[in-house]
Amino acid sequence: VTAIGKPERAVVTTCAYCGVGCTFRAEMKGEQLVRMVPWKDGKANRGHACVKGRFAWGYANHRDRVLKPLIRDSIEEPWREVGWDEAMAFTAAKLNAIKAQHGARALGGITSSRCTNEEVWLVQKLVRAGFGSNNVDTCARVCHSPTGYGLSKTFGTSAGTQDFDSVEAADVVMVIGANPTDGHPVFASRLKRRLRKGAKLIVIDPRRIDLVRSPHIEAAHHLALQPGTNVAVLTAMAHVIVTEGLADEAFVRERCDWDEYQHWAAFVGQERHSPEALEPVTRVPAADLRAAARLYATGGPGWASAERSRPNAAIYYGLGVTEHSQGSSTVMAIANLAMATGNVGRPGVGVNPLRGQNNVQGSCDMGSFPHELPGYRHIAGAEVRASFEADWGVRLDPEPGLRIPNMLDAALDGSFRALYVQGEDILQSDPNTHHVAAGLAAMDLVIVHDLFLNETANYAHVFLPGSTFLEKNGTFTNAERRIQLVRKVMEPANGLEDWEVTQELARAMGLDWNYAHPSEIMDEVARLTPTFAGVSHARLEAEGSLQWPVDAAHPDGSPIMHVDAFVRGKGRFMVTDYVPTDEKTGPRYPLLLTTGRILSQYNVGAQTRRTANTVWHPEDLLEMHPLDAGNRGLKDGAWVRLASRTGETTLRLAVTDRVAPGVVYTTFHHPATQANVVTTEYSDWATNCPEYKVTAVQVTASNGP
Ligand code: SF4
Repeated sequence: VTAIGKPERAVVTTCAYCGVGCTFRAEMKGEQLVRMVPWKDGKANRGHACVKGRFAWGYANHRDRVLKPLIRDSIEEPWREVGWDEAMAFTAAKLNAIKAQHGARALGGITSSRCTNEEVWLVQKLVRAGFGSNNVDTCARVCHSPTGYGLSKTFGTSAGTQDFDSVEAADVVMVIGANPTDGHPVFASRLKRRLRKGAKLIVIDPRRIDLVRSPHIEAAHHLALQPGTNVAVLTAMAHVIVTEGLADEAFVRERCDWDEYQHWAAFVGQERHSPEALEPVTRVPAADLRAAARLYATGGPGWASAERSRPNAAIYYGLGVTEHSQGSSTVMAIANLAMATGNVGRPGVGVNPLRGQNNVQGSCDMGSFPHELPGYRHIAGAEVRASFEADWGVRLDPEPGLRIPNMLDAALDGSFRALYVQGEDILQSDPNTHHVAAGLAAMDLVIVHDLFLNETANYAHVFLPGSTFLEKNGTFTNAERRIQLVRKVMEPANGLEDWEVTQELARAMGLDWNYAHPSEIMDEVARLTPTFAGVSHARLEAEGSLQWPVDAAHPDGSPIMHVDAFVRGKGRFMVTDYVPTDEKTGPRYPLLLTTGRILSQYNVGAQTRRTANTVWHPEDLLEMHPLDAGNRGLKDGAWVRLASRTGETTLRLAVTDRVAPGVVYTTFHHPATQANVVTTEYSDWATNCPEYKVTAVQVTASNGP
């Protein structure tokens, strides 16, 4: 019982924060949410939850929510509040006019990993079938797009290989570029339980995250590498495994392309890739790195099992892997290690990306990439394209479209004119804020579909009010490919669920869309996407969840992938040469900045800042080693100016030895900080995922903002 009173009814739904995908009983009194109770039968959380899912839902009723559509002819004008019909007519007329004058490729859209699969499906369909281009991208561009590239190249599909239960069977766990305690707390609890029962832990991270040393847990190895050297560290580990005869050659011969393995083994085996040769680059003591590689491959001294000849070693990774100029290379280097040691295709092993947002997996699955139709099938494939054309009754552009940064570039040269952004604040979350602002300002039409007037909305001509996860039906797909229902707990305060907003816009543009419920959208997903062939809302209602692929070969879904064969057939080793980032320190910018999250807050804080969770993290802090602070005469708690070649901001200092000398760290949850003002324009060579994790900076004293 709370101040609101005793709950009268409850609806089971799925958390809209991180990729763990906890389910809750939303307990209601009338139309008011009383409390969120972790659902004991939730397959991802088993009755557990964190402070975000449990307490940070107050934003749903926050006074800042915009509930009526807003329009204006130019961004200098004030907003005009209008009804839905007028907003749709205004927006559709402008979209159609821009298309007629500048062609279909002048229009595009951005889907949101916060939205449901069904909502994402409709946005990408609107762009492809309505706008007529493939200029659709997703906020996953700035987080896990290298996962998509790297795992597709090596294993054949863009997805984590194991379910969360699998961690219970791991003998060794390697966490690289992730901070599960803060970013994925409920999974972190399961991981810690396994570690307390004896599994060994390797942490690869520039910062001493909590997992390195917490009650009853001590990492066997913490490789505190220099930011930007993931590939060098993983190559050195591979060198040890290959040159010391620790590879599982029987697995590789049976399951992988043997010729490619030999090519890769010869490459990593070169002396220049030894831990000793790379130590000046990685700053990881060679002996420590050798010991970590041996532990990953062998389980360490004393490992023994009556059932298995080799230990189970699992890798979990996050944005500290992907948000680099070599993000895709790092994902492939991780996959190489797993294949070389036979750690794919059974419980306790695998390559497991910890997805940041609740539906990153789903937004990628639903065809949000400009070169791929849903299910990760290239747009150039005539047969796949034909199946969509027959179902949708349109001709599709066979050419890949533009990624987010390319849309912004094209706006500056006048060839890209209109953008529909659903559920993302690209001005705050994308790198090089000034460039994003210039691109948005150059467009004829920016449509923001969101809960709040965010920073991007300053450049918008249309604001379409969004609905919260409590106000909609649909599905989210978590980091273990688990599709779960999102159930409407209360009626949308703005009158429409997000999928209905997109449908109304499509209709206003002249498209004949008549979905009556998101379940009908999922039926279309299943009809056109082989990995979702057996998914329906009715099945999810009956069974609780399904992990894709759900098809004729896997009628009950797939908790573990690549069991007998990789999706692509033979696993493919990819040579990943370490290439230093172009972002260099020097006398003017002598420190390296890296960024991350904190437990109580979420991304740019649009939701969590509007809840009581703010008491736990009222501002972003800059962590700096005592030596660096002392050299600058800076004290703990002082205001400092953080400057890079791109921009500068002001925040308070936290002096701590969590970071090594030469490295500073901050979170990016508060718009007052605008951490991305300082991040660079460099990005992953394969996917354009921004290099948020490495920025050369200078820190000096400041009097405050
Ligand atoms: Fe929500 Fe993630 Fe916390 Fe679970 S761990 S309650 S999914 S934020």
